[in-house]
Amino acid sequence: MYCRNCGKELIGTPELCMNCGAKPLAGNSFCLSCGTTTNQLAEICIKCGARLNTNINQTAAIGGKKKTVSILLAVFLSYWTWLYTYKKDAWKFWVGIGVLVFIVILAIASFGISFAFSWIMSIGIWIWSIIDVATRNENWYRSY
Ligand SMILES: [Zn+2]
Ligand SMILES: [Zn+2]
Repeated sequence: MYCRNCGKELIGTPELCMNCGAKPLAGNSFCLSCGTTTNQLAEICIKCGARLNTNINQTAAIGGKKKTVSILLAVFLSYWTWLYTYKKDAWKFWVGIGVLVFIVILAIASFGISFAFSWIMSIGIWIWSIIDVATRNENWYRSY
């Protein structure tokens, strides 16, 4: 690729340009694909047609968030299915509800350390549910 700030050809896609020190994709003066000079407002290179997306990092961040949300939803869905099967075990149900509320509050209120912590909590609960179901099935089989 070429540095979008100074036009120097770079090996791979480094974080920073070795020639000018800027983030190679943060500039808007050169095409990242062919190295030709580009208009600062251009969205594609008129020489090679490459997309000159100056917000690549931003786009990636949005995509990452969407992915996180979909994973979160999947975890919560499996979690709810598990809770549903455990309605009769009152203490487990209420502990589950309490932890779920805790996780939701953490997830809504924060990004960063506590967000990561809420993730660890939900993964922990998920693993616990698997272990719990496994042990329950074992007992269930034994009773027959
Ligand atoms: Zn550069
Ligand atoms: Zn180009």
